[in-house]
Amino acid sequence: MPELQKLNEQLASAEPEEILGWAIRSFPYQTAMTSSFQASGIVLIHMFRKISFDFPIFFIDTGYHFPETVDYKNRLVREWKLNVHTIVPMMPKAEQSRVHGPRLFERDPDLCCRLNKVEPLDALQKEIELKGWISALRRDQAETRKGLKPVMKDAQGILRIHPLLNWDRQKVWAYIDAHGLPTNPLYDQGYASIGCFPPCCTSKSEPGNDERSGRWAGKGKVECGLHSHLKNEK
Ligand code: SF4
Repeated sequence: MPELQKLNEQLASAEPEEILGWAIRSFPYQTAMTSSFQASGIVLIHMFRKISFDFPIFFIDTGYHFPETVDYKNRLVREWKLNVHTIVPMMPKAEQSRVHGPRLFERDPDLCCRLNKVEPLDALQKEIELKGWISALRRDQAETRKGLKPVMKDAQGILRIHPLLNWDRQKVWAYIDAHGLPTNPLYDQGYASIGCFPPCCTSKSEPGNDERSGRWAGKGKVECGLHSHLKNEK
């Protein structure tokens, strides 16, 4: 495999399907996707299914998802016959409360995200041997995502692959409309980015603001930590 810098130059303007195709060819049966079933993720899953029918999708069930999100995910699993694996936190919620106190999401959202999202995914990555992890990050979603590359290494040396990096919100929704894809009903209620249900974690965005401006609004936090450690390796 060419070194990352060269690879990223080659993939800089590639269409999402080309990047997905490259990933499948490069790491057959060793590529998976993580998704929280938001709009960009659905576009990617729809594209991915045309290339590989039963690729694994990992859904991190923090225990704090909106019921609408879980129902929507279950509907897609059923109707699209998706190969979805659910990851759960290693420390049950009762123990989290006992050790760290109640309503951790309000008092220390970084720790809450670490316990309920980052650590379960880290543990899974150590357990199974995958080489490529695909996710639907886009540069236009937030300032924190502008410096991402199509392919980056994470802390464990696994390649994180971002086929939709060059797409913007309009393009995602145009694809959804063009293909008649179902979406999480919470979008119709004014949410632009959908995470966990506590209002301090997910709120409705003001028109014109960053898509992720409703996430941890007022907390000085913009990412859950799943992508914060990606390296710009040469
Ligand atoms: S988004 Fe909120 S509730 Fe979900 S894991 Fe992070 S802090 Fe906890």
